[in-house]
Amino acid sequence: MEQYIVSARKYRPTTFDSVVGQQALAGTLKNAISTGRLAHAYLFCGSRGVGKTSCARIFAKTINCTNRTAAGEACNECDSCRQFNENRSLNIIELDAASNNGVDDIRALIEQVAVPPTQGRYRVFIIDEVHMLSNAAFNSFLKTLEEPPAYVIFILATTEKHKIIPTILSRCQIYDFNRISINDMVSHMQRVAANEGITAEPEALNVIARKADGAMRDALSIFDQVAASTNGNISYAATIENLNVLDQSYYNRLLDAFVAQDIAQALLIYKEIRDQGFDSQFFVNGLASYLRDLAVAQNPSTLNLLEATDDVRQEMAARASKLHPTFLYRAMDLCNEADFNFRAASNKQFLVELTLIRLCQLLSPSTDDVGAGGGQLQPLENYTTSVAPQEAAPVAAPVAATAPKPVVTSPLPQPSAPQPRATYAPGGMSLAEVARRARNTSHNHTDNSNKKEADGRRAQQYTDADIASAWASLAANMNADRVLASVMGNITPIHVEGDRYLLRCASQLVADMVEKHIDTISASIRDSVSNDNICFETEISDVDLPKTMWTDDRVLEELIKEHPAIDEMIKKFQLRRI
Ligand SMILES: [Zn+2]
Repeated sequence: MEQYIVSARKYRPTTFDSVVGQQALAGTLKNAISTGRLAHAYLFCGSRGVGKTSCARIFAKTINCTNRTAAGEACNECDSCRQFNENRSLNIIELDAASNNGVDDIRALIEQVAVPPTQGRYRVFIIDEVHMLSNAAFNSFLKTLEEPPAYVIFILATTEKHKIIPTILSRCQIYDFNRISINDMVSHMQRVAANEGITAEPEALNVIARKADGAMRDALSIFDQVAASTNGNISYAATIENLNVLDQSYYNRLLDAFVAQDIAQALLIYKEIRDQGFDSQFFVNGLASYLRDLAVAQNPSTLNLLEATDDVRQEMAARASKLHPTFLYRAMDLCNEADFNFRAASNKQFLVELTLIRLCQLLSPSTDDVGAGGGQLQPLENYTTSVAPQEAAPVAAPVAATAPKPVVTSPLPQPSAPQPRATYAPGGMSLAEVARRARNTSHNHTDNSNKKEADGRRAQQYTDADIASAWASLAANMNADRVLASVMGNITPIHVEGDRYLLRCASQLVADMVEKHIDTISASIRDSVSNDNICFETEISDVDLPKTMWTDDRVLEELIKEHPAIDEMIKKFQLRRI
């Protein structure tokens, strides 16, 4: 019986040129060897499965090869190369610090460092997951790292560069490995498939590559798994079934339903999905990712943020070009909200159905607001407030009446940041009215429409500091909406003139989120300083990028600050984040 070797091992790269997705970096290493400019210590950083260890092994083999090729690669034929390829070279020593992280393990390694090579020029020590070394082990290693014998080269590898102490960083030449692109993974799998006599549909490989999330090793093991269960015929249908991936066509059909405002159809598609055994939250997350992919596919400059093969990218871009950007942002927001509320919801199916209904209503013109120009998105119901909508009617564009479904069929011009997008005047008014005023640059909030409200309006004196502190305390007390609280925390109202304040938003998404809640926010601030004339406008600007990004690591850091016991626990049980 033919021996079965997993693809990840069988197709492990043996030369720098065959390393998938790290061409530039592999080229630099190859050059360093050819020109004899070697460092004593290297640090390879990057997520799992991107080729750090493979590159380290190729490096060790190449510097010991007695007959390097003209291209600077190992010959794979000399004694040394053969020993490497047969895993019996004494010039490569690997230590996995994830499981051997104590002082004794490092002592054993240091003893090895003292032994010169019996054959070849260099002994290469690879310490994988070096950030897992205990503090004591780190310290005893440091001396050796400072002054290693001339024949020793250290290659330290880590998935978590930020955990490497500066004393180590400063002694190493640092190489950052990229996540491997979907295109690179797919073409590598295509080569493997051709070699193995396996047929594979490109769409199927695309799904596998996405599932592998930037790690070639994972992609190949999933590839093996699917190949085995499909008898070497990797079709799209079999792949999504095997990997429990929801067929993209469901999302496409749902999008069609949202655009057509077909609530019944959306609910029926959701039922089909449940009938197939897919978890509702999984589905909501999938839908959110799908909408996000469409949003980045909409603009050529962000198209490469879409992790997919070129064909899939083009298809998504074509689909996205038919949608209004604001529709996508709001749809993403709704999915985000559903995901956020999921755990608390006692009836999860209801939550998802309600979300789908709201998604279908995003494009429906609200009955009392015919004022928005044709082809524009109509405001959500919470954009309109108490002021009589009739005022807005005269500005209706002539096309408005003939455009009941405001779906645009061609790419809209991108909104030109950083123009003030809308003015929210006291008393509240429909979005259409607000937009009209912004267009007419009538920023004066004391125009006719508000005169009738002039009496009885609070108009206490206040300072910018009062506004800032009212803003901060509102953000701090927004327990129910963590996302909005964090968004608000990154914005400081800037005084423009009179009672007008500018809110600089880091992105369209942030601006949309702020605008969605601006009525509530304004009301609260006006109450705080007893002045009803205060109004806010948003502007998209990259000058106020969030200072604090709550990454998982940051959350953990803060937790440890508060409860030092967590850190001890992590060390004691050698916990790792996955
Ligand atoms: Zn050789």
